[in-house]
Amino acid sequence: MNLFDIENKVILITGGGGVLGGEMSNYLLSNGATVIVLDRREETVNAALEKLKKVSANVFGYVCNVLDETSLKEIADQIITTHGKIDVLINAAGGNMPGATIGVDQTIFDVNIDDFKKVVDLNLFGSILPALVFGKKMVENKKGVIINISSMTAQSAITRVVGYSASKAAIDNFTKWLSVELATKFGEGLRVNAIAPGFFIGNQNRDLLIDKETGKYTDRGDTIIRNTPMNRFGETDELNGTIHYLCADASKFVTGVVVPIDGGFSAFSGV
Ligand code: NAD
Repeated sequence: MNLFDIENKVILITGGGGVLGGEMSNYLLSNGATVIVLDRREETVNAALEKLKKVSANVFGYVCNVLDETSLKEIADQIITTHGKIDVLINAAGGNMPGATIGVDQTIFDVNIDDFKKVVDLNLFGSILPALVFGKKMVENKKGVIINISSMTAQSAITRVVGYSASKAAIDNFTKWLSVELATKFGEGLRVNAIAPGFFIGNQNRDLLIDKETGKYTDRGDTIIRNTPMNRFGETDELNGTIHYLCADASKFVTGVVVPIDGGFSAFSGV
């Protein structure tokens, strides 16, 4: 038995049109999986499909807001009708928004609480709702893997991004909570884990890390590099090995973990 075989697994990726979700889709397709991309806008889904179809024909897409339970349920039924099962759900839709970030000259008392709530909604409920809707289909099949995306902001304070941090800390707890619930009540075939990427340049953080005018790292970008023992930002394809492992039977006794992929950032005290 090949522990790392993911051929013919049906893998659903929310935010599959984004930077990290797009890279994962590409990798998993190249390794024989069937990939279903979910993203919020039609043009994002179409652009992702156009790119990914060059890798394999086994890619499909749906326009879907991860906060819309009705639409998630309709899509779940359509996927079961078309593909018969859902093996893996990767919750890669997420991100930050400016109002939930404390500006350089601001303090916590200036935070926009509506944006704070929106960020928590997107990252937390945008993972909980798909986990419940697609997870129910996995339970019916007694087998399935859910992978959430946490962040370095979850376990220690990273300045400015307060709303995002709160939402990702909740993701860590929800990952553990759901892993226990599914394994104890529905059996060991149901697993829930998360990855915690370190710093990768994505749409959500580009402006914080790279100066638009000069193209150089901002002070914040420099500080991150100084606190990353490997002395660089991550490359998006460096998430693929861990994602592959978590999707496959190689990790069949692994549930409830959050794996940092961070060049040593979370291990380092800064001294
Ligand atoms: P991204 O902005 O490139 O991709 C996110 C995708 O999610 C986009 O395609 C967007 O359209 C989609 N999306 C947003 N709201 C949605 C909604 N309501 N319904 C459906 N789709 C929606 O971001 P990314 O850098 O690829 O990040 C992906 C995940 O990884 C996020 O959860 C992010 O917080 C997390 N993360 C990123 C980094 C990083 O350095 N880039 C680090 C740690 C964690």
